Amino acid sequence: MVINEIAGSVGVVTGGASGIGLATAERLAREGMQLLVADIDGDAAQTAATRLADLGVRTQAMAVDVSDLAQVQAMADQAFADFGRVDFVFNNAGVYVSGPIAEMTHDDWRWTIDVDLWGPIHGVEVFLPYLIEQGTGGHITNTSSFAGLAPNVELGAYCVAKYGVVALSEVLHREVRQHNIGVSVLCPMRLATDIDSSGRNRTEEYGGKPEELAIEIDEEEMAGRLLGPDVAAEAVLFGIQTNTLYLHTHIESRRFVQRRFERIDKSFDGAPGL
Ligand code: NAD
Repeated sequence: MVINEIAGSVGVVTGGASGIGLATAERLAREGMQLLVADIDGDAAQTAATRLADLGVRTQAMAVDVSDLAQVQAMADQAFADFGRVDFVFNNAGVYVSGPIAEMTHDDWRWTIDVDLWGPIHGVEVFLPYLIEQGTGGHITNTSSFAGLAPNVELGAYCVAKYGVVALSEVLHREVRQHNIGVSVLCPMRLATDIDSSGRNRTEEYGGKPEELAIEIDEEEMAGRLLGPDVAAEAVLFGIQTNTLYLHTHIESRRFVQRRFERIDKSFDGAPGL
């Protein structure tokens, strides 16, 4: 194990005020992890941190926009000032815009990539040197998606960002083993959270909140069951305990991943020059 004792260790969770981040923070608090709950919605982060403190662990809250490197740096400084160490980093905050690639605006692309891909990159960029310097191991979990493992039609920008998060995690997993730092990438299918109203967090810099805050979902069109975020929380805990790289929430996603690799494998047959 790369975190020898979860009880008493210190974790930082981005997007910790809602959905997967909140469910995971709660699961880890039950294991005795102390937590900095960070979220672009500072009030909601404070509410979450107060609730988690009722479970008997020390918590802090902070308003952080993960797309901004300076704010992620300030979050790390705050975590070390408050707790004196960090053992677990959960780069989880994320948003999405749906629609065909032909209809994505430049702001749609920038917002999705800045939050969903630059967010985890910033988290790694800032915390990795601290974890290495600390010299006591640790664990980094990045939230990608099933959309980071297989193409999802009408989620092009999101897929681009989430494939990137898988690549970041895969390479990091190999590179930091020598420092006794574990890495996981969470790849959920559909979980019942507030993700369909991601637009609530879209700042003016990216065109502001859309008129319709919640994206309409056609249940018949969607692959996979709609499960609760506690499934992801359990997977994240398992990842920390076992240093498992890929974390899944739905058995349904397996066939899609297999098919993608079968298509890639087949493309070698008859390829010119091979
Ligand atoms: P959610 O909307 O319930 O929670 C996301 C949290 O991130 C919110 O509290 C929000 O305020 C925060 N956030 C948004 N932008 C931020 C920013 N720039 N900086 C900091 N915080 C920010 O949604 P969720 O489903 O819990 O999403 C968590 C992660 O899980 C995301 O990365 C999402 O892409 C991923 N995911 C979700 C699902 C799903 O079906 N719910 C499936 C696959 C992947």
